[in-house]
Formats: sequence, C-alpha cells, structure tokens
Amino acid sequence: MPNIIQLLPDHVANQIAAGEVVQRPASVVKELLENAIDAKATDVKLVVKDAGKTLIQVIDNGVGMGVTDARLCFERHATSKIRHAEDLFDLHTKGFRGEALASIAAIAHVELKTKQDQEELGTHIVIEGSKFVSQEAAVLPKGTSFLVKNLFFNIPARRNFLKSDVVEMRHVIDEFQRVALAHPSIYFTLIHNGSEMFNLPSSNYRQRIVNLLGGKTNEKLVPVTEDTEIVKISGFIGKPEFAKKNRNEQFFFVNDRFIKSAYLHHAIMSAYEGLLKEGNQPSYFLYLQVPPNTIDINIHPTKTEIKFDDEQSLYAILRSAVKHSLGQFNVAPVLDFDRDPNLDTPYEYKGKESEMPAIQVDSNFNPFADGAITTVTKKSGGGSYASNLFPKKETVSWESLYVDLKSDTEEVASISFESEEVTGNLFQNDEKEEEIASKTYQFHKKYIISSIKSGMLVVDQNKAHQRVLYEQYLANITVKTAPSQQLLFPLELYFSFEELDFLKELKPSLENTGFVFDKIDKESVLISGIPVTVQESEVSIVLEELISNLQNEVPENTFSLNDGIAKSMAKSLAVKTGTILTERERENLVNALFACKEPNISPFNRPTFVTLSVEDLDKKFTL
Ligand code: ADP
Ligand code: MG
Repeated sequence: MPNIIQLLPDHVANQIAAGEVVQRPASVVKELLENAIDAKATDVKLVVKDAGKTLIQVIDNGVGMGVTDARLCFERHATSKIRHAEDLFDLHTKGFRGEALASIAAIAHVELKTKQDQEELGTHIVIEGSKFVSQEAAVLPKGTSFLVKNLFFNIPARRNFLKSDVVEMRHVIDEFQRVALAHPSIYFTLIHNGSEMFNLPSSNYRQRIVNLLGGKTNEKLVPVTEDTEIVKISGFIGKPEFAKKNRNEQFFFVNDRFIKSAYLHHAIMSAYEGLLKEGNQPSYFLYLQVPPNTIDINIHPTKTEIKFDDEQSLYAILRSAVKHSLGQFNVAPVLDFDRDPNLDTPYEYKGKESEMPAIQVDSNFNPFADGAITTVTKKSGGGSYASNLFPKKETVSWESLYVDLKSDTEEVASISFESEEVTGNLFQNDEKEEEIASKTYQFHKKYIISSIKSGMLVVDQNKAHQRVLYEQYLANITVKTAPSQQLLFPLELYFSFEELDFLKELKPSLENTGFVFDKIDKESVLISGIPVTVQESEVSIVLEELISNLQNEVPENTFSLNDGIAKSMAKSLAVKTGTILTERERENLVNALFACKEPNISPFNRPTFVTLSVEDLDKKFTL
C-alpha cells in the first residue's frame, strides 16, 4: 500500500491558517495595529477604503525591519517576540504566534515598506497570495507601512461572506477603538475613504476616552483606582444616570490588551446593583495590570479571552473598587457615621424609591363652564389612525383621569365602532349585532376584549399597536413620507462617534418617518423635526433603542435596514402593557389593527389577538 499522507505546501497551509486569524477586514486591522505597537511606534496611521474590503494600510514610525526580517516576517511561525515555550507565560507583546503576516499574505495583495533608523535604505516587498512578486531597496522614512489590498481575492466564498460596508466598518472602528483606548500615549489617526474619522493625539487615559467618544463623555466618568498584590486597577466607570441601552462602552484591558470577560462584567454589574434602570448598561473603561505569569492568553485564537489564575479574588477586588468609586463620588449612597440620625429615613422607607409628592389636578376643570368634562372627549378624525391613535401625553393623562372617574360605569357602556373604517369580517356591519359588536373592555391593563359575531375577541394592546405602527413606519419609509412636527427649540442629543456614524446611515430612512436632522457632527445630532407619533421626551430613547437594536441585529441590506427601523420604532413607541386606555383609544386601536395588511401577528411574529367562539365557550359549560 503506497503512503498517502503528504505535508501540505506552505501556501495551502497558510491559507488554512488564515481562516483562523482573518475573518474580516477588522481582523487585519487588529493584527497590523498590534504589530505597530509591538514595534514601539509613537505614531500610527490607519487608512481604509470601502470598510477595508479594498484597502487597509497601517503606517507606523516604529523600529522597522532589516532586509532579512522583512522577507522572513511573512513565513509562518516567524516571530521576533518569543523564543522558548516559557516565554508564553511571560508575554510583554501583543503578538507571539508569528502567523498573522503569513496568513494575511496568503489571502490578499500585500506591500511592505520598512526601514530601520540606522539604515540608509529600506526594503520594499510585494507579495500576492503567498507568492513573492518583487523585492527592492528603496528610500523610505523610518518605520513600517503595510498595505493590504483585495482581501480574500483568492477565496471568493469568504469575500462574499463579508457584510455590508457599514457593518464591516463598525468592526474596524471597534478594533481601532480598543487599541487606541489601551495606548493613549500613541498618536492614532483613522482615515476612511479619504476623510479623517479619528485624530487622537498622544494624551492621558481620560482624554483619550473623551477624544474617542465625544466631549460629553467627560462629565460621565468617575475614576477607579485600586492597588493590590494580585491586580492594579485604574480607569473610569460611568455614572449610573448616563447608563446606556447597549454595551458599546464597556471595556476591560488586561496588561494593555482588550479582553472580554463575562465574569468580570458580572462583578461590575453587581457593584451597580440597585443603581441602574432595568436593561441599562453602565459604561466602563477599566485597566487591569496583573503579573504576566498569572494569566494565560493562549486559549483563544483571536485572543480576546484570557484565563486568570485567581479569578475569584479578581472578581471581589474589582467589585469593591467599583463600589468604592460609586460611593466616593457621591454617585451611590454611602454610610456616614457623623450624620445626624434625626435626618435618617424611617426604617420602613429604606430601599423604597423616593417619589415626588403628586397632586392630582384635573387640568380641564373650568369652574365657569357647565359640564366641561363631558365635552372634552376628542373625536378622532377618520382615515389615518396612526398619527392620532394615542393623543399626546398631556391629553392622555387628562383623559385617563377622566376614565378613572367613570371607569366603573364605562365597563358596561356601549361604544359604537366607526364601521366604515373597519376591514376584515371580524366586525360585521349587521344591524342586530351592532350593539354587541361595539363593546370594548380593558382587561388587566393589557388586553382589549370585545364581542364579535362569532364570539369573543381578545387583543393584546401592546402587540396590536406594534403591528399598527410597524406598518405605518414601513409605509412612510418606503412609499409615502410622513409629515413632521417642527420643534420650537431644536433638540441636541449626544451619542458616541460610532453611534453617530451609524445614525448617518439611517438618516434617509428616518427622515421619511418625520425626523428632521439639522446636523450630525462628531459628537451630537441636532434635531428640529420629529414624527407626529413621537413625543419630544421620547426622541432620545427611540433613537438610542434604534441604534442598539440595529447594531446588534446587523442589517444586511436596505430592505432589512428599513424593516429594522420600522420594527424598532414600533417596539419603542407602542403603547405598553399596564397603560390604561380610554374607550376611544381602545376602539381606534382595534380598528387600526384590522385595517392592517397582516393584523394577526406582531412585527415580531407574536399573535396580536385571539378569538374564542361561542361554541368553545359552550363546550366549557357542558363538560
Ligand atoms: P507576531 O506579531 O506574532 O510576532 P506577525 O506575523 O504579526 O507575528 O509578525 C511577524 C514579525 O514581523 C514580528 O514578530 C515582527 O518581528 C515583525 N513585524 C511585523 N510588523 C512589524 C512592524 N510594524 N514593525 C516592525 N516589525 C514588524
Ligand atoms: Mg503580530
């Protein structure tokens, strides 16, 4: 039997290895930036075109490479950073595997220009798909420039697998941010398609965070410091009131390396316990220094996870350091032994949220008008429900006061549907049935119950309203632009640079729903008009949820982007479970639901209503 096992040729082995190291343009960015830092650069420029799909270039002013090294660096397992197995447990560099450049060169067109300080001339090498194309001496500045073009040119399947430019660029920015946050003393610039996105001069940690995430970040930050044998902690946490809906501002660095750790994240969350609204995420930028021999970085090929020797102590120290900072900066209540006990909260109030004293006022009470209250019920115009289904907050509040007053009697009141606006055959325009068909009740502040010809209709108010709003927004974005309500004073909202960049992508679609953006710059967005269905106080939450929902979902194309916007806005703005609805609101909602193209399901594929037939009920009574 002949031997059948052969060693793979290098270029094939490299291509296979590349699959591990290079998933997308951002992976190349990470490797090249880390190499520049390992080469002791103080100035690093990142240039990308088309989110890195066409070109990625990293230019540094580091130590450079001699002629032989310039050639050798493309070999697999060629590294200057470790020599012995023991070195793996005492790492002081980012790289150590010696496989990044070999992998990148196997799947792209690469050009290397490098020169060491003491040399006259530098080296210029061109390599394509692991094949050396040319090598020559050249006059170059000190340092190294790697130019990576046409990523995955020889693996079409991988190239096709790449996401839209928006998504890929977001990954690139993520990597850039992580490296820039870990090394504030290094000058970083990022240029995308010819325009400068970030210019981060050498600075301290705080200034770097602010430069990256926008000027308003400064006031959010509270410093954290702790110094123990096991770990030295420094950095910043965000004040609880600035907590976000997403986890974009959560960073751990261990020995200057960005890492992810669900365990340490949990330590932080437990320190914030009781200080955050549900679902909110605190910002944190925490730098941990531990002895290199107490961690193992080698457990994950892309190296964002590491193993700690003494994770439990680390957890406890981190948690108490964060708690301490929250307390020290008066962010959380602290124990104060000199306090006058007379000022203490009585025991039974402890742990309860403080409440503003509320005075209930009927804002519509007019002592000079006869029966004023009975005349306030607003008659919604027919046709477009979506904009006036739920009147503005002020109206809702007085209307609900009004409903509360007479809710006992209302439960049995008869309400007539505006039958011309009802589609579908759930509501028969049958004279005899009219009386029965027009009753709606609210059940558990959650369901709207109504009689229909065949039995009983139970509508989930939140899901039904999601469906109504979703169809409306989708139509606004794609077919018919919605009107906008002009704000008296433009609203300025602060977001991180990355979020604002994303918002720019969403801008055309959002404008169709009624938003008017006066300007989106590097730290804020100025809004002068909003959809008629949105209240001014809801704008920031709607946009924040939109960004966080879509960033997590990663929309692939404009259709799914628009769909995502409509879904997210519908979810944010739909009337919530627990809201008391007036008879007119209930009526409008049911009508609008059955005027929808797909009334049966919510945009998230949940049923919006169920029916119970008379026979079903009869059966229950004859069992
Ligand atoms: P690793 O970083 O794991 O050593 P790489 O494949 O990323 O492996 O790089 C191989 C070697 O090439 C490095 O060990 C280093 O000696 C050299 N090198 C890479 N990039 C640079 C750079 N920007 N400046 C100087 N030397 C570099
Ligand atoms: Mg490297």
